[in-house]
Formats: sequence, C-alpha cells, structure tokens
Amino acid sequence: KEITEAPIIIIGSGYGGAVSALRLCEAGKKVIMLEMGLNWEKSGIPYSNLLKPGKSAAWLRKKTIAPFMNLFSLTPFTGILDRLEFDHINIWVGRGVGGGSLVNGGMAVTPKESYFKEIFPNLDTEKFYNHYFPLVREELKVNIIDEQFLKDCPYYKFTRVGEEEAHKAGFKTMRVPNVYDFKYMEKEFRNEVPRSALNTEVIYGNNHGKNSLDKTYLKKAMETGNLEILDLHKVEHIKLNDDKSYTLNAQQIDTSGNIIADKVFHCKKLILAAGTMGTLQLLLQSNAVNDFPIHENIGKNWGNNGNFMTGRNWVKPLSGGTGTKQSTIPVGGIDNWEDTEHPFFTEIAPLPMGMDVATALYLLINRVDKKGEVTYDKANRILKLNWDESNTVKMRENAKYFVRKMNQANGGTRSHLLFNNGFGADICYHPLGGCVLGEATNEFGKLKDHDNLYVLDGSLIPGTIGVNPFVTITAIAEYCIENLIKQSEFA
Ligand code: FAD
Repeated sequence: KEITEAPIIIIGSGYGGAVSALRLCEAGKKVIMLEMGLNWEKSGIPYSNLLKPGKSAAWLRKKTIAPFMNLFSLTPFTGILDRLEFDHINIWVGRGVGGGSLVNGGMAVTPKESYFKEIFPNLDTEKFYNHYFPLVREELKVNIIDEQFLKDCPYYKFTRVGEEEAHKAGFKTMRVPNVYDFKYMEKEFRNEVPRSALNTEVIYGNNHGKNSLDKTYLKKAMETGNLEILDLHKVEHIKLNDDKSYTLNAQQIDTSGNIIADKVFHCKKLILAAGTMGTLQLLLQSNAVNDFPIHENIGKNWGNNGNFMTGRNWVKPLSGGTGTKQSTIPVGGIDNWEDTEHPFFTEIAPLPMGMDVATALYLLINRVDKKGEVTYDKANRILKLNWDESNTVKMRENAKYFVRKMNQANGGTRSHLLFNNGFGADICYHPLGGCVLGEATNEFGKLKDHDNLYVLDGSLIPGTIGVNPFVTITAIAEYCIENLIKQSEFA
C-alpha cells in the first residue's frame, strides 16, 4: 500500500483540531488533517432544516436522529448529525469539516471562574480569564443579541415567556452569547437575506449566519497555505513504531459510506482531536488491535457534563404558548448554580416544530457527582460506557425541583409529549473527559507513556464544566498548543 508521509497529522476537525491546525500552520508547520465527515463547504451540498430533513441530516441512516420527532426516511448518506448509542445514554456528535460546530446551537458560554478553578486547580485561572477566554471569544466571533430585537421579534417569544416564567418562579436568568451572527439574523427577519436560524436550521447545519469553525479557525488555517484537509477519511487504528513515530490505517469512503480506498499514513507527530468519544475509540481500539500502549487513566473520569433534558407542557396556553415561529438559536439561560442544594444551569431551548406545541424545552447542565468510565469490548469491537441511572440521580432531582417550581408559579405539567416521564436523562450533547489533562496527559495534553502523541479536544475536561463546553474546549486547546509549540514539541 502507498504510504502518505506527513510531519504532523491531526485527526478530527472540531474545536481542538481547528485550534491546533491554526497555531501550528501559523508557526510554519505543514499539517495534514484527517476528517471522517464531509467537507460541506467544498461539496456545495446544502444543509436541511428541522422540518424538512433531507439525506444530509444524518450520518448513514435511513431515518433522522433528532432527540425527538423523527419521521422521515432517508437515503443513507454521510450526513451531518450522528448518534452514538450506549446502554443507558445516547451521545450526539457532528460529522464534517468543523465537527460539532456544524450542528451545535452556537451557545458560547464562558464557565464560572470559581467552577473552572475547582475543575482545573492547576491552571492559571487569571491567565485564562484575562487572555485565553477573550482570545477564543474573538476568534470564534462570539456576539450578543440586541435586547430591543429580542423584545420585538416574534421568533423569540419562547425566550421572553421562558424568562418571565423563570422570574415568577424566583429564578435568575442570564443572556447567553452565541457565534450566530445576530446582525445577520436581524436582516433575516427583515427579509433582506436568506433565512437560516429563522428557517428552523440548526442541528442539521446552518446554511447562513452561523460562524462555525470552517468560517473561523479552519478558514484562517487554510489561508496560511500549510494545511491540507482530507475529508471522508476515517482513521481506524494507530500503531506505534520502534522509532516512536506513528502509522495510521484509514479508510476513504464515498458519500454512501462505501470504502473506496484503504490508506496508510505515517507521521512523526500525531494530534488526536476526534472529539471525546472519537479519541477514546481510537486509543482503546488501537490498544486492542495493535497493543498500542495506553496509560491506565485513559477512559476514566468521563462525564455527560450533567446534561439532563426536561420540558413542560401547556406553557401559557391561553396567551398563545411559546410561539409558532421560533428562532433555533438560544439566547436565554436560567442560572441556579449558586444554589448549594440544587445547583444547575439551564438553557431556555427553542422547539421550532412549525406549530405551537405549547411546550417549553430545557437542557439542564448539572454537576457530575459520579463519573463514568469508557472501556473497550474486544470481542464485539465496540466502545462500552460504564454509565447508568445511578450517575444521574442528582440531575434528576434538580430537574424535578426546577419543573415543580416553574409549574407551581406558572401552571403546566412535566412534558410527556417529549420524554417518557418528562425526563430525558439519556440525551447527551456534551461528552467530556476520559483523557483528562494532567491525569492521562501531561499539563499540556501530551499523552503519558508517549513521546509524540497529543490529545487536544473535549476529552481533556474531566466530565463537567458547568456550562456549554466549546468555549472551554477551545481555550484549553489554545493554552496547550501554545505551550507545546513553546516547548519545541513540533520543532
Ligand atoms: P468535535 O467537535 O466533536 O470534533 C471531532 C471531529 O473528529 C468530528 O468532526 C468527527 O467527525 C471527527 N472524527 C471522529 N473520529 C474520527 C476518526 N476516527 N477519523 C477521522 N475523523 C474523526 N456546545 C456548546 O458549547 N454550545 C452549544 O450550543 C452546543 N450545542 C450542541 C448541540 C448539539 C446538537 C451537539 C451535538 C453538541 C452541542 N454542543 C454545544 C457541544 C459541542 O459541539 C462539543 O462539545 C464540541 O464540538 C466538541 O469539540 P471537540 O473538539 O472535542 O470535538
């Protein structure tokens, strides 16, 4: 087989991969990035919206895989949203050049300083809040909705009702920044540009408005001329060679998922940025297949970032519910983190179903009291996740407390329309950990027991960060790659 040689290879093009690529390319390094998903921008294939999903909506499935309301039959295609199924939890991830940034809600939340300090006691908190977080907010083009627009726009009735109800129930709300360009959204509303957020586009991709990584970090990295991205290339496993370099076996697939070439790559330096589950899969599978050395902490200290969905039915039915028209971009949150008995943060989430279902949707983010562990089942060649209802006991208690308090103040019932018993304990958008900074790696993401292998993605965060995670993932990646370059790791 032909072997492609590269000094540095990055696997995965999400936040960690994009940051590493940009900083290495700026430092004059040639980088090859392997991404299993499609280069959407280059392909010119449009994304679909929530109400009329096409084949681009799901990764090689016959049916869409949104958390609820999946009715459509599709032609299997290397679509944008994937779901990894485990015994007690399902994990959603983005596929394509840009990773999770293509499918996520764009909520760009900086963690609370005190919690960041608690989770990362060895990091220089001051430097993060004065330097890395402001830097990534700028690079990611984070902005905030105009209050007057929010007040006037019918597409944000769900936020206004949600905030009003929260206040009535005695909760504190907060404005949530986003990478979606709110000036573009205002133009959408005035019908001056094609609609995206106001046309139910989000988890199957946004055709306009959203500053996903392909429009920020990756675009800048490409402009250096030092980055080559190979899409539809899935790395299967990695081998450590005697000279401490790495050999990668990858499959190039077509958009129907058929293998069109088995490829071999060889590199001196390897960065794993395949997302928490992708990186763990590569490490654990390579260990099983190739005796790839892995440190005992790999797979440990995993968490769902306290993700716990819930909903309420009949939210103000007499006053017209939460609105027929809803923007897909959340801008409101309820901050109950300081409550020592029930600490949580929740997004006031949109539910744009094209009709008023008089339902409010919330994605709670809780502390993770009991962490899980990711292992590998050699016989069946699959990842295993040691995680069940015992891991989410406190999250459920918080959700119950929240819904009860909201209903007492405003009326309504727990939503059985959306979930069994009104709770979606098994829905996870924020898998974190398993390759924790300082535990499975050194202080800058270099894997223990290896000389030329680095992990730079969500798996570095020990299972919880208290808010939506991509701002933190990006900041940690900036911090790590800056120091790795300074230490001449890529010289
Ligand atoms: P990812 O962004 O997951 O990127 C990993 C990439 O590696 C992917 O493109 C994947 O295809 C590729 N890959 C994996 N395995 C291989 C392989 N073997 N070979 C080649 N390529 C591979 N977070 C927020 O902060 N705010 C939000 O509003 C928000 N909303 C979300 C909504 C949804 C529906 C989802 C699913 C997530 C949301 N998140 C949100 C979470 C956020 O998107 C993730 O935390 C983030 O994308 C993780 O970044 P990462 O760099 O770890 O990896």
